[in-house]
Amino acid sequence: MTARPGNSASAPRPTGELIELAAPQERDRLLLAPFAMHGSASRGRRYPEVEHPYRGPFQRDRDRIVHSAAYRRLSAKTQVFTGDLGDYHRTRLTHTIEVASVARTIGRALRLNEDLVEAMALAHDLGHPPFGHAGEDALHRCLSKDGGFNHNRHALRLVTELEQPYREFPGLNLSIELLEGQESRAAKATTAERPLLEAQVVDAADSVAYDTHDADDALEHRLLTMDELLELPLWREAERRVRKRYQALTGGHLRRAILHELIDWQVSDLLAQAQARLVDWQITSVADVRRAPLIIEPSTELAAQKIELEQFLAQRVYRHPQLLSVRRAAQDMLSSMFAGYLAQPELLPATYQSRAAQIGWPRTVGDYLAGMTDRYAEQEYTRLFAQAS
Ligand code: MG
Repeated sequence: MTARPGNSASAPRPTGELIELAAPQERDRLLLAPFAMHGSASRGRRYPEVEHPYRGPFQRDRDRIVHSAAYRRLSAKTQVFTGDLGDYHRTRLTHTIEVASVARTIGRALRLNEDLVEAMALAHDLGHPPFGHAGEDALHRCLSKDGGFNHNRHALRLVTELEQPYREFPGLNLSIELLEGQESRAAKATTAERPLLEAQVVDAADSVAYDTHDADDALEHRLLTMDELLELPLWREAERRVRKRYQALTGGHLRRAILHELIDWQVSDLLAQAQARLVDWQITSVADVRRAPLIIEPSTELAAQKIELEQFLAQRVYRHPQLLSVRRAAQDMLSSMFAGYLAQPELLPATYQSRAAQIGWPRTVGDYLAGMTDRYAEQEYTRLFAQAS
């Protein structure tokens, strides 16, 4: 006779306690720091909903984002490099997942609410139009007389209005805390109170991720050489640390080891800074977090070195002739499409046409274009407008 799993004499028998479903509030109470955002303290949602028995409010936010159309479309949206350069580099989706990974590491180490950290990280770039910042600049110009276009603000419109998975309310009806986190990204200078630590962690993790992976992608595509990067103190120090452990590394192995070191170094630095500030400023509640200066910030020394790397990347990578020509082509395409749809609004899907009465045609066309993937924008441009321009 075949033994059934878990039925042997030595296996512990499941008790009622073991198979009891975890109550989210209890989990938060046991695991989270007092300065973390507890689910039970959430200010709820714009459209009140009954609480879920075993998923906390921020876990539900995370799930709603992962299941949204806007999130899936990130897989075919440019981060920095477009598909014609190759297939090694990050897309907007893989960047988002890397940010969530770094942010969760920081959030867990500080005993913050990981569900909220992850939900904010997965939502942080939802509002990017096709072709990355090139696409954003083009749409901003097209909408200059109608309030402009900003990817952080657009992410808010997506999750509060444009996504329509529910019959009862528009948008995803995310928690007030998640929306506030995204608002603080959209209007940094005007926010009177500091964002929650969970939101600060996502901002810092975004910077850790793009500083390292933009350099990695540029090396892979031979827009930069390792020797050029080694002119930067940040890169040199990371290489020195790697060499102490692995003297003989070369080529791709050395590059990856430096990248791992850079991420680990930045995360460790953020954690050390946060620990010191939490103690020095006696932060023991969310209210303290809101009143204090930013807590999740790199040390002065590392911040200066990161700025140097960012300026280097801006000069040498983001303005590389190969990228500039792609950027111009993408902007011309989006501008032609914007003018084309405005001239022939009957080409827009019916759901968008019906919104124009409330928000006007320019914003309606902008919303439609911003939702497109790179691939779909190219396809629709060729199908509808290529002959005309
Ligand atoms: Mg980002």
